[in-house]
Amino acid sequence: MKTFKVSVVSPDGPVYDSEVEMVIARAKSGELGILANHIPLVAPLEISAIRLKKDGKEELVAVSGGLLEVRHDQVTILAQAAEFATDIDVERALKAKERAEQRLQKAQQEHIDFRRAEMALQRAINRLTVANKK
Ligand code: ATP
Repeated sequence: MKTFKVSVVSPDGPVYDSEVEMVIARAKSGELGILANHIPLVAPLEISAIRLKKDGKEELVAVSGGLLEVRHDQVTILAQAAEFATDIDVERALKAKERAEQRLQKAQQEHIDFRRAEMALQRAINRLTVANKK
């Protein structure tokens, strides 16, 4: 299968740079499956796992939103945060999940930003899913 270049970049620097056969991503507009020679595209991403496929294998990268761009047969993912399963600190994600759940429970009585807590919960669950420790 024809390959193309994928770069994943976070504010901390490059996270991934390699040739793949297919990228599957969850954009705000729905799921995207990108193969070689895809038309140019810019799509905002959900907090989700990016799937990178090559040689019958699949790697997952947890992204906390960002943008996916297809241009000149190259995919660039500018993520707010991006981690491979092996880079995920499971303890930290579990604590973040617990904190967000407590905030959501208290959101009715106290002045807590519900949306912000909800996003933090989504990021933690996404990391735990990618680390396969949900
Ligand atoms: P926390 O409350 O634990 O900081 P968060 O979702 O608010 O979680 P982010 O703002 O999304 O954290 O990320 C800040 C930085 O920390 C990013 O570089 C991100 O890759 C990294 N990071 C966050 N959580 C984890 C984790 N569980 N394992 C590894 N890196 C993480």
